[in-house]
Amino acid sequence: MSVSRLAELISERQPCVVLTGAGVSTESGIPDFRSPTGLWATVDPLEYGSIEAFRRDPRKVWSFYKPRVAMLTEAEPNAAHTALAELEELGFVEAVVTQNIDLLHERAGSREVVEVHGSIRTASCPGCGSRHDLERVLQLLAEADAPVCPSCGEILKPDVVFFGELLPRVEIDRAQELARRARLLLVVGSALEVYPVAGLPLETIGAGGEVAIVNQGPTGFDAQASLKIDASAGEILSQVVETLRPRRA
Ligand SMILES: [Zn+2]
Repeated sequence: MSVSRLAELISERQPCVVLTGAGVSTESGIPDFRSPTGLWATVDPLEYGSIEAFRRDPRKVWSFYKPRVAMLTEAEPNAAHTALAELEELGFVEAVVTQNIDLLHERAGSREVVEVHGSIRTASCPGCGSRHDLERVLQLLAEADAPVCPSCGEILKPDVVFFGELLPRVEIDRAQELARRARLLLVVGSALEVYPVAGLPLETIGAGGEVAIVNQGPTGFDAQASLKIDASAGEILSQVVETLRPRRA
């Protein structure tokens, strides 16, 4: 019942923009941050995820990031990523705005992806400003516990947004523009706790759009959403694709 309602909302309220958080990747075996089994339950974000910590002791931060980068690289896109890529291909989704750094939307085939917290695609040198792609960073990590800049010898910083850093301006502007354009903002796997991304649903509502949410557990926006489905994102979105695909055949 709620699946068919979601399919109708997506079909009727175009353009549809999707906003994803950690919950869309948990089915790929990637832990989220804030749940009781999440990453920050065992690791202090200020010690390992802040820009101050990185400036103080980049090797210590890499002792946390090296296994994390390996895990993200080995993870595979799940049914939710695949469904969102197909919905874009079918013309039902304009873009995916994601808080995730794992590249799984892109690897599933999504083309219009706005990464508001950066990604592991590249790492940059705080010393000389050179930028290095993931493949090169993995090579450097195979030889050392922290990737050392081949040009100047400083330790590279992943191009992900650390605590204490500003979000990338271009991506945030694009995300806000998309949220305002959207007649439907579909939130998947985010509890909408982290600003400014948590403010995007308000942009949509303020411009006359509606919000639908697929998330396991409550979110800060449930009361204002037109539809809330508390279930597995992979299961629900696969069924939505099954419903909508025949309409493009
Ligand atoms: Zn350098």
